[in-house]
Order: sequence, then structure tokens, then C-alpha cells
Amino acid sequence: MSNVTVCARFRPLSSREADSDDLCVQGLDAENFILKDEKDEELKFSFDRVFYPESEQAEVFEFVALPIIKDVFNAVNGTIITYGQTGAGKTYSMEGPGIANCDEQNKGLVPRVIEELFETIRASDEAIKSTITLSMVEIYMERIRDLFDLSKDNIQIKEHKVLGIILQGVTEITLVNPEEALESLSNGISSRAVGETQMNMASSRSHCVYVFTVKQEVTMDKRIKYGKLILVDLAGSEKVEKTGAEGRVLEEAKNINKSLSALGNVVNAMTGPLGKGSHIPYRDSKLTRVLQNALGGNCRTALLCCCSPSPRNVSESLSTLRFGARARHIKASPHVNLKEEKSIKKHEAHFLTKDDLHERIL
Ligand code: ADP
Ligand code: MG
Repeated sequence: MSNVTVCARFRPLSSREADSDDLCVQGLDAENFILKDEKDEELKFSFDRVFYPESEQAEVFEFVALPIIKDVFNAVNGTIITYGQTGAGKTYSMEGPGIANCDEQNKGLVPRVIEELFETIRASDEAIKSTITLSMVEIYMERIRDLFDLSKDNIQIKEHKVLGIILQGVTEITLVNPEEALESLSNGISSRAVGETQMNMASSRSHCVYVFTVKQEVTMDKRIKYGKLILVDLAGSEKVEKTGAEGRVLEEAKNINKSLSALGNVVNAMTGPLGKGSHIPYRDSKLTRVLQNALGGNCRTALLCCCSPSPRNVSESLSTLRFGARARHIKASPHVNLKEEKSIKKHEAHFLTKDDLHERIL
């Protein structure tokens, strides 16, 4: 069974694209669609789900995030990634049009995830003490910045024998209730925006990574159940014109190309003839290193390929969809831990003893 769910999402035409109501996408059903390329050739794609322009945020949440959240409470890690060219709807899908004062209908995956995490805890057994923490980092020019503490602007990645990939010293905020959680989230996002104006950096040039950790302690039990949910709003995948780009713009472009092509190479290595047996080049970029435990193994991954529906952007949409089509072939089976406690290695299971937690570097 594949543990990567790949979806395509076509946003509505933007006002700039709306001079013609032609669309490059023609839906067949909930999983299949046809893309008309620049030469008017019809290419058929089959994904786990297609969200057409009229799709609601709630539908995306229910299909993409809900099953993964359920598994996080079973100590199976989860990852949700938005991929696509700038303006394709990655941030709208992830956050919504904004976090503060966003209406119910438009809010994106992250605020919905927060609500669902709290709702699951509220409905769970009282003997389980659950804690949710959130870290937010931005990867820009191969540096990892802590969005909750801007003085930490070069976070290092470490591999921990029990916990896997660790962002050393990153700020972890304990979420107390959905309202305060949204406030923290808003602060993190605005730190990203401050960086933007100071450095004239568009958010489309950096990757934004949200890390939720759910810790469940059963009273009278020595074990702690531990699940991580990572959401990634990637930098725009468009090809930057080489001509004309210079200085920092060129450096940015090279770094984005480097990390997204590293992600592509990781996907290729995981889907190649040798699959998991081949060398997976995680170390080629900060992005792939951060995602090292998040793309296979004990993890469920969802990739949302965001596209413009306009024929003008079809070549970028095609490249986004080809990336998604490739990722569909990643095979790795997430463990369902609960029934097999004894047979699972600790670092795979995310069942930690209280002593293990003392080793935690975070
Ligand atoms: P990206 O993050 O991929 O660069 P955005 O998410 O910022 O793109 O989307 C670009 C614009 O399109 C924004 O104004 C956003 O609000 C709008 N948009 C994107 N997706 C949708 C959608 N599904 N429904 C309505 N508006 C959308
Ligand atoms: Mg964006």
C-alpha cells in the first residue's frame, strides 16, 4: 500500500486570468481529470483526489488532513505538503486568506488541524494526559529560521537515536487552547512577513514548516505515545528566468531550485526500481533533511499539488502534476503501532519511555 496520498487542487481563475473563462483542466470525476497542454494535447491524470475550483476548504481538510490526524494520535507520524508555482493556492490551502478573523468557510488546513487536535483530546479518555506543541520555522537560502524566536536564525538539524530528525534548540510552544494556538500561529506567520519586508523577501521564496507534536501519557503507565505532524508550505516551484536574475534574486532562485530538485530526487530515489533499497539523497538540502523522517517509513504523507486552472499557466501546472504523479509511486507502509507494541523498535514506534524523553534535545 502506498502511504503517500497525492491530490491536485485547481483554484478558481484569478481576476487577472479571468479575461477568458477557458480552463486548462477538464474534470472527469473525483480522481481523474484531463489537462490540455500548450499544444492542445489532452493528458489524463489520475490522483487520489482532485479538488476543482469550486471545492471548499473543508473538503480538502477532510480528505487530506483528517485521516492523518487520526493516525498521529496512534503514534504514526504525518506530513502534509503543498507544492506548486507561486500564486497557485499553496498558502490559501494551508492557512486560508489569513489566520486572524478568518471566516469559518475559508480557513485553511493549519487552523482546522489545531481545532481537530483539541477536539480529539477533548473527546478522549480522561486517563490520557495529552500535550500539543508547535514549532514554526522557515527555510530560506538553506538557513532555518525559528519563527517564534528570530534570534535563532540558523537552526541546526541533528539526528537523534530515539527521536529521529531534530531541529536543535527550536522554540516549542505548548498549545493550551485553540484560541491561543491561533494567536501563536498568527505571530509566527507575521514574523515571516516581517522578514519579508526587511529583506524584501517574498514568502514564495522560502519554505514554511509547521511542526505539531502530540504527546500522550497514560496515567500509571511508563510509556508515552508520541506523534508528529509536519505541514510544509513550499516555496514556489516555478522556473525562475535565468536571464535578468542577478544578485540575491539569483541566489534565491538557485537555492529554491536546489531544495525542490533535491525533493524531486528524493521522490525519484524512493520510487525508483530499487525503492527503499537505493540511496536516498536526503542530505542534499535542508528541506529534504528536515523531511527525512517525514516522507516514508513510519509516516503518512499527503501532497497537495496546487495549480492555476488557466491555460496561461499550463506549463507550470503540468510540471507540478508530473511531480505529483511521480510521488504517487512512493511505497512505504506506516506502522499501526497499537497492536504490535512489543515488536516495534522504539524509534519507529514513537512510543517513548519517560527516560527516553529526558534525552530529548529540543
Ligand atoms: P501561493 O501560496 O501558492 O503562492 P496563494 O495561496 O497565496 O498562492 O494564492 C494566490 C491567490 O489566490 C491569493 O489571493 C488566494 O487568496 C487566492 N486563492 C488561492 N486558492 C484559492 C481558492 N481555492 N479559492 C479562492 N481563492 C484562492
Ligand atoms: Mg504562498
